[in-house]
Amino acid sequence: MSISKRDEYWYEQALMLARSSICKFTHGAIIVHKGKPIAYGVNIPCFRSVREFTSGVPRDIHAENRRRRNETTHAEVRALLNSPRGKLEGSILYSARFTKRNTEGPSCPCISCKQIIFAAARYPGKGIKAVVYFDGIDLVKVSPEELYYG
Ligand SMILES: [Zn+2]
Repeated sequence: MSISKRDEYWYEQALMLARSSICKFTHGAIIVHKGKPIAYGVNIPCFRSVREFTSGVPRDIHAENRRRRNETTHAEVRALLNSPRGKLEGSILYSARFTKRNTEGPSCPCISCKQIIFAAARYPGKGIKAVVYFDGIDLVKVSPEELYYG
């Protein structure tokens, strides 16, 4: 699938969103439906509850996160969990990431997220039609099937 100006725009928004993650590798995801964002997600340490993040970040979270930095709930999953029921049909998921050097990094969803996106795409009333990510050189737009099997 070809990348449009809108795709570039929403990818940039996902990149900006990634800035709000407190993890070492910051990852952002936005789901856009009919030109409007319907769900956002950033990666969060999975050992902390969402409630703690909405009520302010605990002081020791960075130290804890450094210790357990690999244990995060990924941005794509957060966005899917935040999406309104029955509204995903035909939507596009944008995935963006910064590296620990604070540069734009490849943001292809990991194997777990690929499986979850693929499963969500097949679920009745769900149906993400495309995923956009940065492959390290260009933006790439693929169907959930291509993402999963590719
Ligand atoms: Zn993932």
